[in-house]
Amino acid sequence: MFIRDTECTRDTPVTFGKQDQPVYGKCVRISPGIDGRTDSAHFRKTYLPELLPLEEYDRIVVLLSGGKDSVACLYKLLELGVPREKIECWHHNIDGGHPLRRMDWRCIGNYVRALTEAEGIKLRVSYRVNGFFGELYRIGASEPIEWIDPVSQKVKQCRLSPNYIKCQQLREQAPEDLEMLLKRYGYRMKFPAKSADLSRRWCSAYLKICVADAVVSNLDRLGELKKQKEQCKVLIVSGERRGESSGRAKYNEMELHRTNAERRSHRTVHQWRAVIDYSEKDVWEVLKRHHVNPHPCYRIGWNRCSCAMCIFSTPSLFAGIREIYPEEYEALKKDEEILGFTLDNKKCLDDFVGDAKSCVCRKDQAAIRSILTGSFSKRQIFVKNWRYPAGAFHGAKGGPC
Ligand code: SF4
Repeated sequence: MFIRDTECTRDTPVTFGKQDQPVYGKCVRISPGIDGRTDSAHFRKTYLPELLPLEEYDRIVVLLSGGKDSVACLYKLLELGVPREKIECWHHNIDGGHPLRRMDWRCIGNYVRALTEAEGIKLRVSYRVNGFFGELYRIGASEPIEWIDPVSQKVKQCRLSPNYIKCQQLREQAPEDLEMLLKRYGYRMKFPAKSADLSRRWCSAYLKICVADAVVSNLDRLGELKKQKEQCKVLIVSGERRGESSGRAKYNEMELHRTNAERRSHRTVHQWRAVIDYSEKDVWEVLKRHHVNPHPCYRIGWNRCSCAMCIFSTPSLFAGIREIYPEEYEALKKDEEILGFTLDNKKCLDDFVGDAKSCVCRKDQAAIRSILTGSFSKRQIFVKNWRYPAGAFHGAKGGPC
């Protein structure tokens, strides 16, 4: 049984969020709290009854969004005794270096950098070039995926798609009917749908899932995963929890990752949703135990740390965006005009927000500063007197990623 976020309060007892005992190096195989599903061809194909002993993985990757659940995953691994040098945090930047537009929190990059530096863990930032707004206004093939090497800090690019190369050639030739020719390679020009279907909710697929997959396979192609060995073993750890939504309640705790290619590429890739059964209270307990300052968005009233302007945001969260990032709110309204397409399925942004009260709580001035300026330094990552942030225990509405 799991506790839904909508039912979780400060008084909910801590069940899973207690200190883990070290198992690394002891040949322990972790198995799921609830047996994995095998009720469809997909689940049978990806079924994984247990993990390998953690010491057998060559690399353990934490998908670190900066939200509390991914931070709890990182600390779970450390409590289980995984050496820091074996862990790598991967953060997907949603804006992808877009020159003008932002979907994400201004301080997100500095927050994940501060946390990983404070804990002495490598951080690999990856993104699709020009991010959300590049994809929203895409005519032609999608932009390439890049990552920043955690050691050299150099930008590395995933292999370019043949369609992207053809579009680049067309742009260089600049024919009169360029736009029409580019459209043959695809175009977007509409907001992601508020749907569980990832082919319509393209932001999660194009800016997160595909990015992680491309980085795994390109690191392998470049020989960065295998080194001298024949076979490499990678564990990808992510922070989805059953209590967040009915969709996530049905996820398997562990499975073969999409990039698993044991026979073809000698690459074993397992995925572990390490805090899947945790309640919101359990997760906060982990951050509290390690004195980790939660991402500033929680401290100013957000219940979720997804994209700042997540398509699933409630009217009250968008009223908060209008208050703290008015230019970005206005630009989003302009997008609706240009695209002839509203962010919400039925209403334009102003009508959707209506007279909802802003969620912003201004008590924590340091958090407000980070949200407005993007600043967040290593010395801010740990706090002596840990307190629940203003956004804690406000349910799960506002974003599924
Ligand atoms: S957090 Fe929201 S807007 Fe961002 S990728 Fe996920 S669903 Fe899309």
